Amino acid sequence: MTTTTLEPVPVGTGTALSLTGVTRTHGTGETGVTALDDVSLELRQGSWTAVMGPSGSGKSTLLQVAAGLDRVDGGRVVLGGTDITHASDQERTELRRERIGFVFQSFNLIGSLTAEQNVALPLELAGRRPGRDTVRQALALVGLSERATHRPRELSGGQQQRVAIARAMITRPQVLFADEPTGALDSNAARNVLELMRDMTGTGQTILMVTHDPAAAAAADETVFLRDGRLVDRLAGADAATIANRLVALEAGR
Ligand code: ADP
Ligand code: MG
Repeated sequence: MTTTTLEPVPVGTGTALSLTGVTRTHGTGETGVTALDDVSLELRQGSWTAVMGPSGSGKSTLLQVAAGLDRVDGGRVVLGGTDITHASDQERTELRRERIGFVFQSFNLIGSLTAEQNVALPLELAGRRPGRDTVRQALALVGLSERATHRPRELSGGQQQRVAIARAMITRPQVLFADEPTGALDSNAARNVLELMRDMTGTGQTILMVTHDPAAAAAADETVFLRDGRLVDRLAGADAATIANRLVALEAGR
């Protein structure tokens, strides 16, 4: 295994992730799009933050940049006490493998592998040999002990997303990033996934989640709103109706 130059330093302040004045532009000149414009955001350890905003407002870019998967053009990104603003491609690959977890709307499980093989994959990619117990424990945490040897097509959407969450959590990531994790699920399965995420924050896991669903955002501690790449508002502890009203107003340009 290669060694990383991105050693985490003790956090102490309780901050899991901070973005300071972050700008990200796609393309240059007349065709350039400013996906993020001077965004600052700080996530406490164990907090759950939802990101909402109209289509194209920069939500996915925010997640990519915060996770160290994408570079910034200006500002600063600190993940788990490590300044990752100027990380190299190699360091970003290591971050992705060992320090963050990512969950997508489309689950992104590997169809030819069983649930437990999917869950074990990040550790294997990181050059570690996962013990069977470690993998089974991760599946037990998401309530899927009985499905360890099933392949994705033998699981419901909600079960597949829970496997994806177990896979994301197996490396004990400093932050779990989720882009529309409930977007492909019916309301029952969505509620299960949201309850699971709430349980995870109870053990100190920090979560940053993009969603279009006001009910999902209401399950988080706080919702931040993006418009045209700018962080324009935030609501803590709001209910789904309040969040929905704010989103409708934003989409109407207010
Ligand atoms: P959201 O997730 O809120 O829909 P995105 O972060 O995907 O928004 O995109 C923000 C803006 O950046 C949009 O205008 C989008 O078209 C643009 N954008 C995103 N990724 C790229 C890219 N790789 N190349 C060019 N433009 C991009
Ligand atoms: Mg998006």
